[in-house]
Amino acid sequence: MSFVIAVDGPAASGKGTVASRLAALYGYEYLDTGLLYRAVGVELLETGQDLDDAAAAEAVARGLHLNRLSDPGLRGGVAGEAASRVAVFEGVRAALLDLQRAFAGREPGVVLDGRDIGTVIAPHAQAKLFVTASPEIRAERRWKQLVGQGEDVAYETVLADIRRRDERDAGRGAAPMVRADDAVLLDTSDLDIEAATDAARRIVEAARARQG
Ligand code: C5P
Repeated sequence: MSFVIAVDGPAASGKGTVASRLAALYGYEYLDTGLLYRAVGVELLETGQDLDDAAAAEAVARGLHLNRLSDPGLRGGVAGEAASRVAVFEGVRAALLDLQRAFAGREPGVVLDGRDIGTVIAPHAQAKLFVTASPEIRAERRWKQLVGQGEDVAYETVLADIRRRDERDAGRGAAPMVRADDAVLLDTSDLDIEAATDAARRIVEAARARQG
């Protein structure tokens, strides 16, 4: 059976960095599931369709393949916002479920990060982490990243975006962002990348020891 590491948490919590580093450490494949929702949102925008059209979004999700995820255009703020709007639709989430479950079965193990990995996609994951940080710290990280990329954006705008996305992700009816009962909470507010990765590795090691 493959060893599944589920990493959930809000935007800019550090979950992506932690998840990809864990994957490299254990030689596991890694899936950033946010890219799936981003790809759906971006395709709707590119084809001039409405982000609030549940049927159109579901049709795009049904036709999605993993090879679409390397597009650098999926990484920006517009894609993230579009992703969280289509992610509220039950049909979109159902359409993306099999693909994620199939990925989760890959040997010898995998790391998936997202919002509902430990609760819906892989409830039997051997190791579960919920990575978070205060909204202010997450906004600061995201703001520095954007400014570093040459974007002219105010910190307050980034903070407002983060709060809006948190509310939408945690407040939706379909697979809301919530810590699974058996997920270990990792607050990265006061941790740099090295310290956060180290803490995550210890959580996974404890889970591995429990599995024998
Ligand atoms: O993690 P990332 O910021 O790329 O996710 C973009 C959006 O996709 C999230 O705000 C969320 O609405 C949605 N998402 C989700 N379930 C996941 C991963 C992402 O609903 N497993």
